[in-house]
Amino acid sequence: MKIVTSSTELADGCAFVPTMGALHAGHVSLFELARKKSDFVVASIFVNPLQFEDQEELTKYPRTPERDIELAESSGVTHLWLPTYEEIYPAGFPKRSAGKLGEIFEGASRAGHFDGVVTVVARLFELVRPKISIFGEKDFQQLSLIRNLVTDLNLDIEIAAAPTIREADGLAMSSRNVRLDQNSRDQALVLYRALSAAAIAPDLMSAQSALQEVAKSQTGFTLDYAEIVDEKDFSKATYETQNKRAIIAGWLNGVRLIDNMEMKLGATR
Ligand code: AMP
Repeated sequence: MKIVTSSTELADGCAFVPTMGALHAGHVSLFELARKKSDFVVASIFVNPLQFEDQEELTKYPRTPERDIELAESSGVTHLWLPTYEEIYPAGFPKRSAGKLGEIFEGASRAGHFDGVVTVVARLFELVRPKISIFGEKDFQQLSLIRNLVTDLNLDIEIAAAPTIREADGLAMSSRNVRLDQNSRDQALVLYRALSAAAIAPDLMSAQSALQEVAKSQTGFTLDYAEIVDEKDFSKATYETQNKRAIIAGWLNGVRLIDNMEMKLGATR
């Protein structure tokens, strides 16, 4: 594995996995999927200041460079790119807007977050020129916005979605989980419990109530939203909606957690 700081040293036509580091098994699954798709796998680690609403969150974001290098190397990454701020954001760089979808759910609670995400990803794509790029379903709204970005910019990049990797008890892996103390770690299971309760409900209405009921039942957990939406545009799902997904977010002890799950709901409804 080559560790590079300048994008000029990267392989053209690679499979590309952008990350913010503090790597875990979720990231590893993306690297492995990338390696199945290409002999050249570029992973980037860049903690993007533009997608953090406040300075404190940015400072508190976990950083584990040595372990990141080991994990990337052992999971098929051929080029680990650690870009400089200046390469990503040269003076006068254009900021992008994520549009309407960037303003609801995650975007409503984190002003400017998705504008920062699409701005950095557009720039990363410009510098790497991958043939394919892998994103996790864990950040489902982000994945939709990246698909929109590729369409809007008319880029010839395939966007592949990778399923959410979970801990043995169901908690979605996240770099932020290391900030949970033992008590909060136990309480964090509420997201998975709420999603799972909704997924086994017989119809949309009971799925919605199960989701809300479990989400509101956990002491310590401040619910932001719990909703079943249309995967296409994140509008509220109806019985006619083809692809439904439950999305949930909230705070535990000051740590923001998000998760989501596909809702098949008996397929006939
Ligand atoms: P991040 O480093 O948090 O910006 O995430 C980098 C990529 O890894 C994004 O495409 C995420 O959606 C994905 N990712 C993060 N956590 C998981 C997970 N538990 N399972 C699958 N993909 C994940």
